[in-house]
Amino acid sequence: MAKRYVWLDGKIISEEASRIPIMTHSLQYASGVFEGIRAYGTDKGTAVFRLKDHVKRLFNSAKIYGMDLSYTEEEISLAIKKIINANKLEHCYIRPFVFYNDHNIGLSTEGKKISIFITALPFGAYFASGKEKGISCKVSSWHRVNSMILPPEAKASGNYANSILASAEAKRCGANEAILLSTNGHVAEGPGENIFLVDGGKLVTPSKDSDILLGITRDSIIKIAESIGMQVIERNIHREELYVADEVFFTGTAAEVTPINTIDSIKIGNGKPGAVTKVLAGKYSDIAIGKDQEFSGWLDYLQDK
Ligand code: PMP
Repeated sequence: MAKRYVWLDGKIISEEASRIPIMTHSLQYASGVFEGIRAYGTDKGTAVFRLKDHVKRLFNSAKIYGMDLSYTEEEISLAIKKIINANKLEHCYIRPFVFYNDHNIGLSTEGKKISIFITALPFGAYFASGKEKGISCKVSSWHRVNSMILPPEAKASGNYANSILASAEAKRCGANEAILLSTNGHVAEGPGENIFLVDGGKLVTPSKDSDILLGITRDSIIKIAESIGMQVIERNIHREELYVADEVFFTGTAAEVTPINTIDSIKIGNGKPGAVTKVLAGKYSDIAIGKDQEFSGWLDYLQDK
């Protein structure tokens, strides 16, 4: 396997050299914030999808947790491009991670060193053949965190303990993925995905007050749908609306657009990926690989065009 490089606090080092102490604060207490970004191979070379928006969200997550980053958004964007280049990657997944690089026991974050690493890895489909064939979901018995407990709008490690509980439960019950309800009982999101339903040609997705991460793929799909004349409604959704929807799908950087065939063993529509989902997924993918020039501003090329 090719040697992998990571960016750590301004330096590019080999992955083996990037070991951190086992008592590291963010490992013990899930006190990190991070991003998940994809880059795609295009005719004009590798392009990072919505790089500025991801970096902005990383800085916002850090701000919510009172973590001061000693870099600008531009510097982190450049570092992301450098680490893709260093690893000679095309289609890949990029993980910037901001963490308390301090191994003194104790919860306090005061005065603790904040570090950033960025790594990039080859990455295919998140759900094996799920993107093409669709997946099964289970409404979780775990509810999504809410902003009185943990801010869902921050992409913070701590939130993923909640995601992991839900995902593991779904898998134990034979489903591919979980769907979490908010604490007030509305449909919120998947453990690492936003959710949409198609109802009579309209697209409906939980609004911000359903305790969701404001996904960048979610925003892309809303804009793509509107560009092809679809009405998009952001509102509270009842669980049972999912069961009777024409189509339901997940969105996310990792999941891209993944059709949902069944929820709680109930067939959605005819139990196969729906026509609207396919159109949106196709356009999303064409934009990401530079085949569709609409929204070309979403692509940040490693080399200047
Ligand atoms: N919700 C959660 C909880 C997530 O972890 C993710 C993945 N980042 C998403 C939604 C989708 O967000 P995005 O489209 O920005 O990847």
